[in-house]
Amino acid sequence: MNPDIRNIVILTGAGISAESGLATFRGPDGLWEGHRVEDVCTPEALSRDPLLVHRFYDERRAKLTEVVPNPAHEALAMLDHAWPGDLLIVTQNVDDLHERAGARRLIHMHGELRSALCAACGKAMPWEKALPSGSICDGCGKAALRPDIVFFGEMPYQMDAIDTALRRADMFVSIGTSGAVYPAAGFVQTAAHVGARTLELNLDPSAGSIYFEETRLGAASLLVPEMVRDLLA
Ligand code: NAD
Ligand code: ZN
Repeated sequence: MNPDIRNIVILTGAGISAESGLATFRGPDGLWEGHRVEDVCTPEALSRDPLLVHRFYDERRAKLTEVVPNPAHEALAMLDHAWPGDLLIVTQNVDDLHERAGARRLIHMHGELRSALCAACGKAMPWEKALPSGSICDGCGKAALRPDIVFFGEMPYQMDAIDTALRRADMFVSIGTSGAVYPAAGFVQTAAHVGARTLELNLDPSAGSIYFEETRLGAASLLVPEMVRDLLA
């Protein structure tokens, strides 16, 4: 293990789950599973067409039962268990593949498919099945449950904890994210500012590549296990 590295922050995006069979956000056609982002990922879309938005996330949630973690998720879970210093995996993904691989030090900054959120009282609750529009909150009793997904224009979860970890980081790694969605796209600059080593693992150069000291191009299922082996060597 490199003695200069103690605290690690790892940001993951849709690319880490691509080889498990989950579509990324911006496929070649710029759509997410055939939908424009504005039609399924905004508060306006939810109030304009709740049936469409609920159905979209119902389909994504159902799909989780057909996929399993890949070697990239497994390697990060192993690192989480073995790493003696601080470590935080911050995922933009709404799937549950990191935790199913065994990762524990994990923040879902953009929410989770397997969670419902009450728009009236703010309570979040585990949710496995379809979530019909108008489902009742078991906290306040109102028919106000929505997918627990952070839409564009909403505040991502646990930003204070993420910021604290970034400011203490000796190493920041970004895996499988296009670097197009803020605030996550700016994490590399925060980490670099405090002197962290910055490494990007992605299939293609991303919008944020210029901010990283090092970019390794390739499939996450190969690059992530390699990186974990190096870190634990
Ligand atoms: P994105 O789709 O914008 O970018 C994915 C990136 O991964 C691209 O740069 C691509 O080159 C790279 N990539 C594709 N396959 C890869 C592979 N096998 N190995 C390594 N890299 C690979 O994804 P993003 O930046 O995470 O977009 C952000 C939003 O998309 C998030 O807010 C998230 O909530 C949502 N989203 C989540 C999921 C999921 O939970 N699995 C899926 C799609 C979209
Ligand atoms: Zn409620």
